[in-house]
Amino acid sequence: MVIMKIFVINTGSSSIKYELFDMDHHKIAAEGMAEKIGEDSGILTHKKILANGESKKKVEEGVIADHYDGLNRIVELLIDPEHGVIQDKAEISAVGHRVVHGGEEFQSTTIIDENVIAAIKENIPLAPLHNPSNLMGIEVAGSIFPDSPQVAVFDTAFHQTIPMKAFLYAIPFEMYEKDRVRRYGFHGTSHAYVSEKAAEYLGRPLGELNLITIHLGNGASIAAIRNGKCVDTTMGMTPLAGLVMGTRSGDVDPALHFFLADHLGMSLKEINTLLNNESGLKGMCGTNDMREIIKKKDAGDAQAKIALEVYTYRIKKYIGAYFAALESLDGLVFTAGIGENAPYIRELCCRGLHKMGIEIDPEKNNRTGNGIRKINSPVSEVKVLVIPTNEELKIAQETKRVIESEIKARS
Ligand code: ADP
Repeated sequence: MVIMKIFVINTGSSSIKYELFDMDHHKIAAEGMAEKIGEDSGILTHKKILANGESKKKVEEGVIADHYDGLNRIVELLIDPEHGVIQDKAEISAVGHRVVHGGEEFQSTTIIDENVIAAIKENIPLAPLHNPSNLMGIEVAGSIFPDSPQVAVFDTAFHQTIPMKAFLYAIPFEMYEKDRVRRYGFHGTSHAYVSEKAAEYLGRPLGELNLITIHLGNGASIAAIRNGKCVDTTMGMTPLAGLVMGTRSGDVDPALHFFLADHLGMSLKEINTLLNNESGLKGMCGTNDMREIIKKKDAGDAQAKIALEVYTYRIKKYIGAYFAALESLDGLVFTAGIGENAPYIRELCCRGLHKMGIEIDPEKNNRTGNGIRKINSPVSEVKVLVIPTNEELKIAQETKRVIESEIKARS
């Protein structure tokens, strides 16, 4: 069996995001998203990617009854004579799912069977918002593509190499043993992807590289990577920990919760909403759109300025912490929407770190570009790279890899 077309899906509670990868030509053939599933009116946006790289878009508005309806309609578009890219759904060799929480069970990508489904279910308490939707995606895709193998790629898997000294919280040990309370980390697919790309770019084996990878999207996290393996990360048992994010606070004093409950009479649910949805950049300056914040700062807005200082100071502190954890550093990698596109942020994060061997070249940093680029000065011992992330491609590559090795093992 030749693995050529891989369908990647990321299922949320009311959405399905998808890409169809043509692995033979290393490109996306079609992509899109079904949104507002189960609501009064849904939206299905589908794009067929043309040979010249442009896309032909189709938007359908109307009720999308449930995830089954949504995925069925996506498949109809994929095989549509005008907007489609395949003739029959049987052309899809495999379906790759993004699954948020693999707990301690999954150290790597896995072909989905009943045991895997049961284990993802067991991890629902650790990711109550995400794992149920991911499971629904697996169930629906299983019924629509009964003959294609399905694969789970976990956000947490890359971080399973983190040693106990870095993942254990200093609370009673039974809480780890019985309730699995510990640091897990997320964005693993992105950190894994950019670390592999960094090794390729630098022309060195990943297993010999120490890297700090900085993913700055709406969610944000840093990973410390020693000899190609993750040894620490900023997100914790949930994605709330660590860096300041679009709407998440990142690290706060854990006792803040008691203050908010006792002093302001907030409920646990309200505190959860506050820290996840109303904090971070949005909480500090009213918006979580980095482009807008930088514009406001340039126009003299004091709140935007301080929000950027808090945001970049936190990143800089973790660069220092992870440098110490790794003891030596070969590369610092910026990725995701902000990391790839905001030179001002990269500059603030690295400012004054020349004694650690980190020095950005301002001209290279300010140059716009789409691909991988090196932005450090010639004297900088640490290579500073901007690497566009591509979590979906990584899911497709992982899906292909595990299916091919399964086929090989059986033959
Ligand atoms: P998500 O986590 O939703 O995938 P992205 O990786 O797309 O997020 O990153 C979104 C963030 O990237 C937003 O804050 C957005 O403002 C920021 N961003 C995108 N383009 C630019 C740009 N040119 N300059 C600064 N920030 C940008």
